[in-house]
Amino acid sequence: MAYAITQTCCNDASCVSVCPVNCIHPAPGEPDFGHTDTLYIDPHTCIDCGACADACPVDAVLPVDMLTGPLQEYAEINAAYYAERSPAALEPDPTPNFHQWDSPVFDRNIPSDFGPLDVAVVGTGPAGMYTVEDLLLHTNCRVTLIDRLSTPGGLIRYGVAPDHPSTKKIGETFARFHDHPRLRLRLGIEVGVDTSANELSEHHDAVIYAVGASAARGLDIPGEDMPGSLTATTVVAWYNGHPDVPADAVDLSSERVAIIGNGNVALDVARILTADPDTLENTTVPADVLAKLRASKVREVVLLGRRGPENAAYTAPELRALANQNAPRLVVDDHDPRVATTIDAAASGDKAHLLRELPRETVDWTGPPGPDRRIVLRFHSSPSEFRGDNEIRALRTTGPDDDVDIAAGRVVRAIGHRGTPVPGLPFDVPTGTVPHSAGRVADKPGTYVVGWIKRGPSGGIGENRACARETVGTLLDDALADRLSGTRRSSRPVAAARRHLRKLRRPFPNAPTA
Ligand code: SF4
Repeated sequence: MAYAITQTCCNDASCVSVCPVNCIHPAPGEPDFGHTDTLYIDPHTCIDCGACADACPVDAVLPVDMLTGPLQEYAEINAAYYAERSPAALEPDPTPNFHQWDSPVFDRNIPSDFGPLDVAVVGTGPAGMYTVEDLLLHTNCRVTLIDRLSTPGGLIRYGVAPDHPSTKKIGETFARFHDHPRLRLRLGIEVGVDTSANELSEHHDAVIYAVGASAARGLDIPGEDMPGSLTATTVVAWYNGHPDVPADAVDLSSERVAIIGNGNVALDVARILTADPDTLENTTVPADVLAKLRASKVREVVLLGRRGPENAAYTAPELRALANQNAPRLVVDDHDPRVATTIDAAASGDKAHLLRELPRETVDWTGPPGPDRRIVLRFHSSPSEFRGDNEIRALRTTGPDDDVDIAAGRVVRAIGHRGTPVPGLPFDVPTGTVPHSAGRVADKPGTYVVGWIKRGPSGGIGENRACARETVGTLLDDALADRLSGTRRSSRPVAAARRHLRKLRRPFPNAPTA
């Protein structure tokens, strides 16, 4: 028996650090790390100790002989990653070989006389919480954790799809730090509204901003802001009960919805809008949103991808899980002959190969959708205009041969996020990030960034772990070199800082219950 990493892998590599035989890869520091859909366990080397399963925050690691249904594929998927990399594939009498991999490096040396720092972390999403975890577990810092909302969790709470409970479970791992004796949680405080970056810096040795990238990227095509056009950010926040998005923000009176984009967020939105509402009953979907989904008229969701199936932005595990569901039906629009050619020629490890078993159909986009709920994947198709009078009636798309109008009363733009400026911090408009060097904000001693506001809006939950580690490492380097702000650390009264933030807290009338 061996263990295997399955669909919900968050790539944070918690498992790598506990594996006694270094058989989980790609590991931090290896070239592939951050570039594969999941991590993989080498079945030839695994000694079945189970330590990785205990460490995994999203329950993605399972013994191979306990894999059932669609998850059974993952035994082969894990083994296949090593088939080309292990000498076992090359030698006639192979023996498990651990030495081809360098040992991962995790430990950080901090002098024993290093005094406690008071650090504020702004943002309680995954980037902020991996930062908090690193500070609390590996340093003696005292942390003030701040969020503008009245409930912590950020993207885990308000971004992960409610039908992905294993992924949401990482929120429980993070929440255990909220009660840590060296952490104070201050909710309902917004930088630039209730306090300023300068005030936070005055009261702390260092401030780390983990505020994410909350704005949606625009398409810049005619009609984009017409009624009926929504951002995926709004729809995702809506079905997750975000206090900024009211229950009537999403109107589902159209029979067909077009989604522009084919990343994991686009798949999430398509799946939730076409799901049997009964399957969402025991999830975190708020009751008023569930009532809207029950009354929904949506029967068909079409995902538009600018390029072919080999370049789709979704991850293979997400598409594999959707394809393995009985309902809704997943269909490929074969309007472009390149789609079938690509799928039929795809090797088994390619993304396009996952579409091989799906039905292909030439869809009539001018009429209403059929009676059954389904999701259609349409490739080589770019939006060029939102058409309608008072609200959207159709989305004009430009394909290889001609323009096609897709009769859809609602269009969701799922083409990515953008960071927004943090008042008091420098901002790089083209990238939507705060300029930094290894997390250190330019010209702002003692100020740091982590997560999407640091590196731009790409990468999943787990990538924030390495990102946080880099920023915390930079902060500690600066502290050891006395570069934080030129003020002695001992002169910063932590009690005063906490009194300051306690006074600022404001009530949230629309706050959801925790
Ligand atoms: Fe490593 Fe043990 Fe997990 Fe096998 S079961 S991958 S040996 S931690």
